[in-house]
Amino acid sequence: MQRKSEELKRRLFEIYDLQSVAELLRWDQTTYMPPGGAAARARQMAMLERMAHEKFVDPAVGRLLDDLRPYEEGLPYDSDEASLIRVVRRDYDKMVLVPAAFVGELESHLAASYESWVRARPADDFAQVQPYLEKTLEYSRRLAGFFPGYEHIADPLIDFRDPGMTVATIRDLFGRLREQLVPIVRAIAARPAVDDSCLQQSFPDAAQWDLSLEVIRKLGYDFERGRQDRTPHPFTTRFSIGDVRITTRIREDDLVEGLFGSIHEAGHAMYEQGIRPELEGTPLADGASDGVHESQSRLWENIIGRSRPFWQFFYPRVQAVFPEQLGQVPLEAFCRAINKVQPSLIRVAADEVTYDLHVIIRFDLEVALLEGRLAVCDLAEAWRERYRQDLGVTPPDDRDGVLQDTHWYDGTIGGSFQGYTLGNIMAAQFYETALSAHPEIPAEIEQGEFDTLRRWLRGHIWQHGRKYTASELVERVTGKPLTIEPYVAYLRGKYGEIYEL
Ligand code: ZN
Repeated sequence: MQRKSEELKRRLFEIYDLQSVAELLRWDQTTYMPPGGAAARARQMAMLERMAHEKFVDPAVGRLLDDLRPYEEGLPYDSDEASLIRVVRRDYDKMVLVPAAFVGELESHLAASYESWVRARPADDFAQVQPYLEKTLEYSRRLAGFFPGYEHIADPLIDFRDPGMTVATIRDLFGRLREQLVPIVRAIAARPAVDDSCLQQSFPDAAQWDLSLEVIRKLGYDFERGRQDRTPHPFTTRFSIGDVRITTRIREDDLVEGLFGSIHEAGHAMYEQGIRPELEGTPLADGASDGVHESQSRLWENIIGRSRPFWQFFYPRVQAVFPEQLGQVPLEAFCRAINKVQPSLIRVAADEVTYDLHVIIRFDLEVALLEGRLAVCDLAEAWRERYRQDLGVTPPDDRDGVLQDTHWYDGTIGGSFQGYTLGNIMAAQFYETALSAHPEIPAEIEQGEFDTLRRWLRGHIWQHGRKYTASELVERVTGKPLTIEPYVAYLRGKYGEIYEL
């Protein structure tokens, strides 16, 4: 058995390396590659991904998994060995159901769809992408169809990104969250607006860049095992546990986007840097799900990065870097500015309170599309209507409406948005647990000390990689199933104070 387990790991390591090389090519493509490299690069990445896929769905892997079943059953559930076999079997059983020809067809369709979106968005031309989107919807339904026995057609699609989650559980969580959020947003709208003009001055690029490096180094992002570069759309990527990179985008007329973007990506990256080295080279060396990953980035970005203790430490430093811009702005005013709530059209620029409403709208719309209750030709109007209802703002065009996110244009429909809000909900539940174990955390943060929090996160979440599903992890770490209460309490407490609700 030991020999078969070693054989499985050897095969997995090869796949991991192929995927990591593909990731490296993708990282280069979005950071340093000259435009002339585009065509060859797309071909090279596609080849590596195909090789990795073929190696994984090889029937020999299925036979090894079958042979290893009694061995797995004799091991403790949370051992590395049993977890590896369990997680790989789950992936394998899913992957083998999707024919390779379908995957190829879908990928070339999505490449064409993305190309069309790149032209359609600046031109505010939804009609141009509509036929592509109709086809994507058809492909998404077909993809779900490879997994018979589901309760809801979106379930298998959600399962790719947030394993174990279903439309029923998410609808329940999101429905209750929306009921809480809409009145908070209304109450805030009735209060005087917060003045955030101090953030919209000119902040030279080089100083912002250095500041972002200083902040994330202090949080604990390890530059011996990572680096930061620039891209138009920031992301985190991993080539091994020893090399987890982040990217950021800086705008001189806005201090917030670059700095909080860096903190967000560093949150993702610290998670991956914190995976136990023993899991390297296996499918366990990854985040547990979209939601858990996002819980880590948003915990650092919002719960920590937009908190008063954090700025009690960092604000004097930022004032020293930008004395003309912020020298006369008191800490209190700065903290209010970075937490300003204002219903807006764009998800990625949304504040903490309205952010989830953007996500819930997208989730509901994609479920309606998959169910056949909503036609693609009515999507733009349905989008406008929901923004009117939930956020009280109406997109004047589709550019800042239905065309704003890449998700539906370069990926399938279903499952691509819920992770953001699941992450927010989890982040608050995790942090509440960390605080009850270590009430000293905020006082340490005031001193620029993040060790206790980081050690807690590594011990309870990061080190496990993908061993546990999100639900298992939440239960193990917090002793409770996922619930919106800590998140709602956090939002009420923080924004109740800022807006004197
Ligand atoms: Zn993220």
